[in-house]
Order: sequence, then C-alpha cells, then structure tokens
Amino acid sequence: MKSRAGIVIIGGGIIGTSVAYHLAQRGVRDIVLIEADLVGSGASGRSAAMILLQMSREMTVRMSQESFKEYLNFEEEFDADIGYKPIGYLNLATKEIADNLRAQFELQHRLGVPTEILSPDTIARLVPALDVSDLEFGSICWQDGVIDPHSVMQAYVKHARRLGAEINEKVEATGIVLEKDRVAGVRTTAGDIATPLVVNAAGARAAQVGAWVGLHLPIKNFKRTIFITDRFDEIPERTPFVMDLAIEWYFRKEGKGILLGMGIEESTTFEPQLEWEFLDAMIQRALHRAPILANARVMRGWAGLRSLTPDDYPILGRAPGVEGFVNCCGWGGHGVMHAPIAGQLVAELIADGKTTTLDAHAFELQRFSQTTYSHLTF
Ligand SMILES: Cc1cc2nc3c(=O)[nH]c(=O)nc-3n(C[C@H](O)[C@H](O)[C@H](O)COP(=O)(O)OP(=O)(O)OC[C@H]3O[C@@H](n4cnc5c(N)ncnc54)[C@H](O)[C@@H]3O)c2cc1C
Repeated sequence: MKSRAGIVIIGGGIIGTSVAYHLAQRGVRDIVLIEADLVGSGASGRSAAMILLQMSREMTVRMSQESFKEYLNFEEEFDADIGYKPIGYLNLATKEIADNLRAQFELQHRLGVPTEILSPDTIARLVPALDVSDLEFGSICWQDGVIDPHSVMQAYVKHARRLGAEINEKVEATGIVLEKDRVAGVRTTAGDIATPLVVNAAGARAAQVGAWVGLHLPIKNFKRTIFITDRFDEIPERTPFVMDLAIEWYFRKEGKGILLGMGIEESTTFEPQLEWEFLDAMIQRALHRAPILANARVMRGWAGLRSLTPDDYPILGRAPGVEGFVNCCGWGGHGVMHAPIAGQLVAELIADGKTTTLDAHAFELQRFSQTTYSHLTF
C-alpha cells in the first residue's frame, strides 16, 4: 500500500467505490481507498437492492433521476451487467398516510416521474395475494426496480483501478493525523498514509471516523432484517415490490422465492446479527397484508444497518473547521439508489471546488448546528 496519497477514501461500500471511480474518471490521480473488510461487506451488500424514482422530496427525486442516468447507461459506460429489472415499486396508501402519498405523487409528476395511482381493485388484480380492504389507493412507478449492487461495486472498483486508483481490502483506518486544523494523514492497520485529503465514506462507522477530527455527525444506525423464502409460486414472478409504509414492511420476488424486509430498531452494534426470533414479528405483518404468505417457508436471512441522519438527507460536503476532510455518509435507506450521484457530487466538489450537477448545500453538516432534531424512523 502507498504511504503517500493525494486522497484517501475510508470505506469500500457502494458510496466509497463510487467516489473513487468518479474522482478517477474526472482525472483526479493518486487516490487510495481503504476498506476494513471486503468491498461490499457493509450495508451495500445487505440491501433490498431497489432503485427508485418514486421518492418523497424534490432533492431525493432529483438525486434518483441523476443516478438513473448512470444506472440505465451502465453497460455502455462500464461494460458490466448490473441486472436492472424494472419490476415496479408499489406503495400502499392506508388512511393514515394517504394525504402524504398523494402530495408525493403530485411532486413526482411535477418533476417528470411517471408514477401512477391505482385503485384498490386494480391493486387486487395486479397482486391478488394482497388484502386491500383497508387501502385508499396505491402508487406505482414501473421504472423503479432491482439491481445487483455487487456488480455495481465491482465495476466501480475495476474502472477506478484502470484509471490509477489503489483499492485496498482488509485495511482499516484507525485514526487521522491532524496538523493544526488540517488533515495530514490517515493511520491504518497497514501503516500510515500521508495525505492532505480524506473522504469519509465509512457507512455505519462514519460518526466514529468524524469524531477523530472532532466532528459530531448526527448519524444513528438502524437495524433492518431481510428473510428469504423457499420457492413460492403462489406469488408470481411478475409481481412488483410491495411497500406497506404504515406497518414498515415490504416484500418482492427474489428468484423463485420471496424477499421480506422490516426493522427500525436503533442498533447498539456495528455487526448486526440475524435474530431468528424476529421472524415472528415479520410473519405477523406478512399475514396482515398478504395472508397467503402463511404457506411460505423462510430459508435464510440477514441483517444490516441503515445509517440515518435526523432529516434523512446524507451528510455530503467539506467539514467545517477541518481542512481536507470531506463527508459522504448518512445515506440511510437510499445509498444504493443514490450511489452514482453521491460519487459524482464528491468528485465535482473536490475537482472543481463546488457541485454543479445538483446544489448540495442542503447536505452540509452545518445544517445541524443550530437545531435539535428527533430522528425520523423510515
Ligand atoms: C436491509 C437493508 C435494506 C436496504 N435496502 C435498500 C434499497 O433497496 N435501496 C437502497 O438504495 N438502499 C437500501 N439500503 C441502504 C443502503 O444499503 C445503504 O444506504 C448503502 O449501502 C450505504 O452505503 P455505504 O457505502 O455508505 O455504506 P457501507 O456499504 O456500509 O460501506 C461502508 C464501508 O466502510 C467500511 N469501514 C468502516 N469503517 C472503516 C474504517 N475505519 N476503515 C476502513 N473501512 C471502514 C465498512 O467495512 C464498510 O464496508 C438498505 C439497507 C439495509 C440494511
């Protein structure tokens, strides 16, 4: 590993690898990325792998639209198949969230997202497994779909390397060397790297990395569990992703089986374990919305962390008061779908001094300095 670099990126998830690629692609040289374990071993390898245009706020819709441009053009740019399948994302509107979803639908239309409203009867025809008796309506965007995040990360790594970046696995950052208020280096388990610039893409550990330079990053990690069932033909392959926001539960087809997801508990550990006892709670929700799932057999599962900020926007930008420290973290439940724009914005910030594709001021850490927030739980 190099002992000197122009930039060190801490974290080899989908965000860190995207940052490495986009920086290299803009002609920035002398990049070193360090990943404590293996690329994709954190949240990026444990997600539900959905990419959505159907987002709730203007900035998140715009980030999705920018990211879709790269994802839809991925094969051409990277010569890699990321397995995009536009299965559609169906949001179920029960009474308590109907107004909210209607407002989101209007916003999405204003921004050019082709979301459609479906009546309960149409939903019942589309997904006969669902109990629609308490639904006001549903909204669906058919371009929303599933990808393979591992293929995305491997492509970012391959092309970042081709353009001269050094990507190291099994190397953990253990501290940052400061000279006055400036970054001077990174301490790692494989020796020190002298550098004037660090990008914090450490996912669930980003607050810890920020604390090394005296920053308080208001990120909390929430555990989410996914279970996968055995082959389950009662729900056919052409079924969209179904999200029941009111009960924080979702499912989609995964191969011949079903992927079920749920969980909003704050985690006390960085290494979330699958707890089989959680299956009971998951089954309760499943039976409420899709009683037919009582016949499905759960085979395996995993747990991961979603790293959320109080306003559910990422923290992206130069850190106040510490020269040479850039945050790109707190991506919550959207890091897979927004990885392309995340890397692009950091590359613009570092190469050009400002972001141009989107105005990223809303993501600066300074937004938290005056206000106390209670954490949102989505
Ligand atoms: C169950 C679940 C379902 C999800 N579903 C979706 C979805 O459908 N769509 C979507 O867009 N998002 C989804 N997400 C969220 C998404 O997975 C995350 O937002 C995204 O993976 C964050 O990427 P990241 O690179 O910031 O973090 P990570 O993938 O966690 O990467 C951070 C990396 O930093 C490394 N690291 C940490 N500290 C150090 C250190 N000191 N030195 C070196 N390396 C270090 C870690 O080992 C890790 O590999 C889901 C998350 C979960 C848990």
